Amino acid sequence: MENCIFCKIVRGEIPSKKVYEDDEILAFHDINPVTPVHFLIIPKRHIASLFEAEPGHFAVLGRCLGMAGGLAREQGAGDGFRTIVNTGRVGRQEVYHVHIHVLGGPETLPPMIVRRGQ
Ligand code: AMP
Ligand code: ZN
Repeated sequence: MENCIFCKIVRGEIPSKKVYEDDEILAFHDINPVTPVHFLIIPKRHIASLFEAEPGHFAVLGRCLGMAGGLAREQGAGDGFRTIVNTGRVGRQEVYHVHIHVLGGPETLPPMIVRRGQ
């Protein structure tokens, strides 16, 4: 995908701080971290969002999720972490190349979603 920012990172056209790479997966630090540990795991092939995930993508998506725990531990989030995959408008997805956020650090995270009125 020509103009996709994460495809550009995969191709090395935009720099990233890599956490892990193999032939089909890349993990790199989020440029604007919201927790002490905040990195993204992406499939190298362009899949716009979970809405576009097809059976042929399931294996690599499963690998992305499967890598999360080991990488989180390596990055210093051995006491727990949160994975988030924002999808579409309602999910407030900003970059349309599917990515798993891995969020952690020493502090306990806030509740998953703040309930309305609280
Ligand atoms: P979202 O699509 O809402 O799940 O979030 C996209 C995430 O990508 C945000 O947390 C951004 O900080 C992050 N991001 C955007 N551009 C870059 C980049 N060049 N390198 C690393 N992370 C990025
Ligand atoms: Zn892409």
